Amino acid sequence: MKILLAEDDDVFRLLLGTLLFEDGYDVVAAPDGMKAWERLDGEGADLCVFDVDMPGMTGIDLLKRLRNDDRFSGLPVIMLTVKALVEDQLAGYKAGADEYIPKPVDADILLARIEALTRKTGKRKG
Ligand SMILES: [Mg+2]
Repeated sequence: MKILLAEDDDVFRLLLGTLLFEDGYDVVAAPDGMKAWERLDGEGADLCVFDVDMPGMTGIDLLKRLRNDDRFSGLPVIMLTVKALVEDQLAGYKAGADEYIPKPVDADILLARIEALTRKTGKRKG
């Protein structure tokens, strides 16, 4: 099962990518929204984890673009961001997020939420 990770912070992208990989997922990591879109457009994914604040295309813009594409309208998307205000979270859900998780997040909680989302889609690790 492939997770597309979009995160502009190099350290956090590496940490998060390693966490997901060690938990048994295939990980495709992109440093901004446009590169994430190119990867998704080209090879697809089974679940996405997007930061919000990124240079160029933000995580919200990326999410909207994906939701407007029939191929990805039902793809599970988790927003993972320091933008934690109520209006930020509501904007995320309105744009089509399945989960909106403020940073910092406990690693086990993030993995549990990914598992909960993938239970619905029937996708498995590996
Ligand atoms: Mg960021």
